Amino acid sequence: MASQPLPKVELRELGNTGLKLSCVGFGASPLGNVFGPVSDDEAIGSVREAFRRGINFFDTSPYYGGTLSEKVLGKTLKALGVPRSEYVVATKCGRYADGFDFSADRVTKSIDESLERLQLDYVDILQCHDIEFGSLDQIVNETIPALKKLKEAGKIRFIGITGLPLGIFTYVLDRIPAGMVDVVLSYCHYGINDSTLEDLILYLKSKGVGIISASPLAMGLLTENGPPEWHPASAELKSACRAAAVYCKERGNNISKLALQYSLSNKDISSVLVGMNSINQVEENVAAAVELATIGKNEKILAEVEAILKPVKNQTWPSGLQQS
Ligand code: NAD
Repeated sequence: MASQPLPKVELRELGNTGLKLSCVGFGASPLGNVFGPVSDDEAIGSVREAFRRGINFFDTSPYYGGTLSEKVLGKTLKALGVPRSEYVVATKCGRYADGFDFSADRVTKSIDESLERLQLDYVDILQCHDIEFGSLDQIVNETIPALKKLKEAGKIRFIGITGLPLGIFTYVLDRIPAGMVDVVLSYCHYGINDSTLEDLILYLKSKGVGIISASPLAMGLLTENGPPEWHPASAELKSACRAAAVYCKERGNNISKLALQYSLSNKDISSVLVGMNSINQVEENVAAAVELATIGKNEKILAEVEAILKPVKNQTWPSGLQQS
């Protein structure tokens, strides 16, 4: 008897880029040991399983693990030998282990270093990383024009910007010609505890910008194991998320599954980037996406969890120079 094909995650168009991204994207910051040590075998196993289940989008940065994430992802992609046209790699520039530098000179050198570590000839998306820590006027007047030259040189295909405060995106997009920035990567703003990205979606669509939403598990807040030591949330937010995780577990549900399904439900978001570092996590996250597409999410438990998180809804934390 022929075996059933494995259910795969759906693909979604990314703005005007023509790229089709898996709705679950592979966040590779954990490959830089950001959430604890990951062996080469675990890294290769997770990425192999991701490909098997239809995940084609991988996001990294020279900042994650002080270049380790890029190196491990590069080694892993090479070991698996998947044809280059079958996956999309995004990396970043401007944020490094030794600080921020969004100058044209630094980002121009940075892409060559990233390509070497990733063992690639080009990346699909190069994103200015956490621009709220730099001068937004420099991003507009110097960094994005430098990235445009990299695009013309064929080292990158598309340009993105990332960061936490949502005002940074409108500040930049209102000051550059349409089409200069292809992608926005927002994080921790489209999840059960914080859904403020929703207010920006129509604006981003009107600008023709593709939307990627990262950290559906709020960087570990919405997991049974809880967040890492460095997590910037307030004690109140951490405690509410812990209570929500326990509530789900006691009723035979998993907070991470529910949280990912919540983020995936909005189809204006092309890809939801989840940090993954084990085969098991890839399997669980793909299963959550497939269940959402076939059966739907558990609306009753979601409403109960939303009620637990209501006192901290949309609570965030400061990030960057607070200039916008
Ligand atoms: P996340 O919300 O995806 O949480 C990741 C944590 O959840 C890790 O500890 C991971 O091991 C764990 N996890 C994953 N699947 C799980 C499951 N099924 N059950 C239990 N735990 C699970 O946060 P993140 O990793 O910070 O974000 C995802 C990715 O988005 C990053 O890896 C990065 O690529 C990108 N990102 C970018 C920016 C930026 O550009 N400024 C910021 C944040 C995240």
